[in-house]
Amino acid sequence: MRSAVIVGAGAFGSSLAWWLARAGTQVTLVDQFEPGDPRTTSGGESRLIRCGHGPDAGYTASARRARTLWRQLEAACGEQLLIECGLTWFAHHDDGWEARTIATFEEQRIPHERLAPEDGARLFPSWSPTGLAFLLHEPEAGVLRAQRAVRALARQAQVHGARLLRGVARPAGAAARLDDGRVLEADVVVWACGAWLGRLFGEHVAIRSTRQELFFFDGGPAWAAPGVSAFVDFEQAIYGTRDIDGLGVKAAPDFDGPALDPDAALPPASAAGEAIARRFLGERFPALARAPLRGSKCCRYELSPDAHFVAAPLPEQPSVWLLGGGSGHGFKHGPALAEQVAAALAGTAPLPAHFGLADRCGGSLLRTAGAAR
Ligand SMILES: Cc1cc2nc3c(=O)[nH]c(=O)nc-3n(C[C@H](O)[C@H](O)[C@H](O)COP(=O)(O)OP(=O)(O)OC[C@H]3O[C@@H](n4cnc5c(N)ncnc54)[C@H](O)[C@@H]3O)c2cc1C
Repeated sequence: MRSAVIVGAGAFGSSLAWWLARAGTQVTLVDQFEPGDPRTTSGGESRLIRCGHGPDAGYTASARRARTLWRQLEAACGEQLLIECGLTWFAHHDDGWEARTIATFEEQRIPHERLAPEDGARLFPSWSPTGLAFLLHEPEAGVLRAQRAVRALARQAQVHGARLLRGVARPAGAAARLDDGRVLEADVVVWACGAWLGRLFGEHVAIRSTRQELFFFDGGPAWAAPGVSAFVDFEQAIYGTRDIDGLGVKAAPDFDGPALDPDAALPPASAAGEAIARRFLGERFPALARAPLRGSKCCRYELSPDAHFVAAPLPEQPSVWLLGGGSGHGFKHGPALAEQVAAALAGTAPLPAHFGLADRCGGSLLRTAGAAR
């Protein structure tokens, strides 16, 4: 493949641009905004990177591979993008999702520790083990500086010869037409349009755009220390991080929020969401029960019906590909997914069938047990 047009410079599109440009493909990367714009799904400050995906071997291996590739990106751009603070899963049952994750980790030799609930006291400045069966700690997991990472991907793609264009693109047969009238043609045109993908290609993919809320609390210096682990409570559908880059301790409910149009302005976060975050933090980390709220914001998930990614050509136009459906867990996989997509574009390795455009039904648990409230 000599040339590619990629519409969408989020984590998925920029990763693919970086990957293909490094391999010598002539890449044109187009976005309506600057890469990492806060209106896009990749635009936030931080995203978790963890290998735990329950029994799913494919996403587990992909996350592990992605860690290596994020490190390569860091080396190329000279910036720290991945904070390897570890990540701890709070297991409420001995035989739940975390136990199945451990089985997958053992098969793939992914570093992990199964800890007693009381051991949380050495991972967090304040701790209550109440209600937990055990902890699953991934010492090599952590947090990606999301917006900076997306910008680094797009910049590194440019270093390798990619062209970055600003504009709104629309499908025009097998090409992409920009709002200024330019028509971009290439051996392959990839639409990596995040929440906008469903609107552009609604007859092929069902992508729901939902409003999600993030809360940042002032935990004081103890919660800014490098050794404090990130965390996920799968069953209670909430996750968070220590105070990174002075933003505050992050807590984010993971239930699918209400529908939010991709072009709608992001509303302020709700008092109800804050109450959920605060209650969780207070129960698990008692010192945070009355921590002042330092900030809050909304962003949007772009959910496929079953939380599996979308990466497939259009049946009637094999040179036109759709890439998306990150479904609230896609960021970390960006470069590893790009590697897989590049192999599929080159015809050297097929993608998993569940990335295809066939009808899907709900059910995969790839983030937390959260669903619509
Ligand atoms: C609150 C929140 C927390 C999350 N937490 C995690 C996490 O902890 N770990 C994790 O791995 N993932 C997480 N995710 C998911 C992850 O961030 C997304 O899956 C990922 O960023 C999706 O990237 P994308 O490139 O598909 O979409 P986007 O980042 O939205 O990129 C799509 C791009 O396409 C552009 N575009 C769209 N239409 C057009 C058009 N017609 N013309 C030109 N440009 C266009 C947009 O401007 C945008 O830049 C989270 C997401 C959210 C919202």
